[in-house]
Amino acid sequence: MENFEVALKEAEKVAKRQRACASKSADSLNKLILEVTEARKQLSAPGAGVSDVFNALEGRLSKGDVVKDIADNTKELHGAVNKLGKAVDKAFVQDICAALRPVQLDEGILDQVIAEHLYQQGNFTVGDTFVQEAGIGNAAALKKPYTAMHAVLEQIIARNLEPALRWAKEHQAQLTASNGEAAVHAFEFRLHQLQFLHCLQSSGPAKALEYARANFGPYQESEMAEIQRLMGCLCFVRRPGASPYADLMAPSLWSDVAREFSRQCCGLLGQACESPLLVAVAAGSLALPTLLKLATLMAGQNQDFLTCNQLPVELELGRQFVFHSVFACPVSREQSTPDNSPMLLPCGHVLCKVSLQKIAKGTVRPFKCPYCPAEATLNNCRAIFFPDI
Ligand SMILES: [Zn+2]
Repeated sequence: MENFEVALKEAEKVAKRQRACASKSADSLNKLILEVTEARKQLSAPGAGVSDVFNALEGRLSKGDVVKDIADNTKELHGAVNKLGKAVDKAFVQDICAALRPVQLDEGILDQVIAEHLYQQGNFTVGDTFVQEAGIGNAAALKKPYTAMHAVLEQIIARNLEPALRWAKEHQAQLTASNGEAAVHAFEFRLHQLQFLHCLQSSGPAKALEYARANFGPYQESEMAEIQRLMGCLCFVRRPGASPYADLMAPSLWSDVAREFSRQCCGLLGQACESPLLVAVAAGSLALPTLLKLATLMAGQNQDFLTCNQLPVELELGRQFVFHSVFACPVSREQSTPDNSPMLLPCGHVLCKVSLQKIAKGTVRPFKCPYCPAEATLNNCRAIFFPDI
């Protein structure tokens, strides 16, 4: 941290020096321009002696020595930039090897993950080259769904929702099976809503109303409040500044719908919307400073960081890295699984099923909760389920 602050201070110095250098150099250049302009004026006067004018100009310039001034200024700036470079090296370049564990990675799977990441991000040219160089066999099958996804995404960015609506219709059954009817309905309506607003902005109220009549019918029950707001927009086409519905015109709605489409599409492909590779790298980068510190501390106490099975510290990465609720049994310290689900005791304490069965010794007789004096029997404990976040 200390090194980082030193680097920041050096960066401030560079910015200051750069401003000073720019203004001093501009002054010097202006002086130079004035002298040359003056000499040109003298030369264009009738009967001017060329050599006299040049000699006078040379005399004036050598007195001020503009070029040397500029060079000196720039030298000072370069000195500051050099110092910043060294401070940045000190602050950021760290030997991370101490925090790395010797993990045997399956290179085939790793290649596949990288290829899938490139295709998912829409980097098809890089993806194709990578696939070829890594010799991945099922590349075409890997690429195909993402080609289709990005074709639709490109159209969404170009303000054309037709392909997205078509996709939603074609995949309605699968989407309903995985997300439920209400969610699919809401997604379709969001597409129609945006198409209506685009129509209103590009073709006017009459066309927009026509679009609404043709497409809003199936949503009038579930989305009536939103449809009413959309109709309200029709009154403010000429006065967008006074519109209480200005939020419906925000350009971010387009990026939101693009993200939502990617999420739905990746969901059907059985993939996370965020690239797993990107998430792993981001999480690893966040955890690295703690791991490095831990490795140094453990080395100081003659403990081996590389072979310890469990990290002696909690790594808090923030909410964006929490994808599922997890429950660790306070007795066995193991994470719950579908077969070993969390069980709620009547007193409110929660243990995993296996721990509970051990405590109850497989009988139906009452046993004492390990965390409070209350008694429970296997029959009055309930399995509980944590919803995904
Ligand atoms: Zn209890």
